[in-house]
Amino acid sequence: MSKIEIRDLCFRYQENKDEKLALDHINLAIEEGEFICILGPSGCGKSTLLSLLEGLNTATDGGIYIDDALVTGTGTDRAVVFQHYSLFPWLSAKGNVIFGIKQSKKKYSKAERNELAEEYLKNVGLEDAVDKYPAQLSGGMQQRVAIARALALEADILLMDEPFGAIDPKLRQELQELFSNLSKEKKKTVVFVTHDIDEAILLADRIVVMEPGKIRDEITVTIPYPSKRMDLAGTQEFQNLHNRLMSLFYERVAAEIGNEEVYL
Ligand code: ADP
Ligand code: MG
Repeated sequence: MSKIEIRDLCFRYQENKDEKLALDHINLAIEEGEFICILGPSGCGKSTLLSLLEGLNTATDGGIYIDDALVTGTGTDRAVVFQHYSLFPWLSAKGNVIFGIKQSKKKYSKAERNELAEEYLKNVGLEDAVDKYPAQLSGGMQQRVAIARALALEADILLMDEPFGAIDPKLRQELQELFSNLSKEKKKTVVFVTHDIDEAILLADRIVVMEPGKIRDEITVTIPYPSKRMDLAGTQEFQNLHNRLMSLFYERVAAEIGNEEVYL
């Protein structure tokens, strides 16, 4: 039994009288502790898939099983981080993390919650910003708080929807490294959505490449972990993987020429 099993999953959006099949018979098994990147062009159904994993949308057909139980709604076994930081603006960094702790450690005293929140913020390198409010923090720092809050939920599964998409490249690399280390250290099962090929190679144990509505291919990343993949960006193995993923993307682009959609 895998941690997550997606079985023949279909999802159709209903828009007036138009119907849109956003997911068309998706099958995927994700093992406990595995880091999966879902890689695919804009509009291919990545966020839809994540919303079904989260339990916000219900399958039109097929289903998702976590620990062999059908997902029928949201649950404390899953924590979500989106591209837009979604912090509570009226709470400090610490207040946002305490919000997470209140869900996972209901019996903790105020002092215990406080201490744990400071520890989680230290994990993400924000020990000096605990009392700052989201508006006083840069995008990268806000996303660190969002990660700390998600970790504080102590869910087995982390669902990440392009969490570093709005962060500038230099900071993004720092966050990628931080998140990859934290998720391995805390033995999380991660489903991480991205449209960035290099990000997928740097983070994933396995990359699931999507094309509209479907899984196109799966690629296991054999570059050893945690031997600092960031240092491997120039190596032949990295380049080979990059090229293979690029060709999967371009096959699609070639097929779409003449169409208005832009894929990269
Ligand atoms: P991605 O995250 O890969 O960019 P989405 O999952 O957001 O893709 O979208 C998949 C497809 O479903 C797209 O064609 C999109 O236009 C469509 N879609 C997304 N949300 C809705 C919605 N609320 N109503 C109707 N169609 C939608
Ligand atoms: Mg999306």
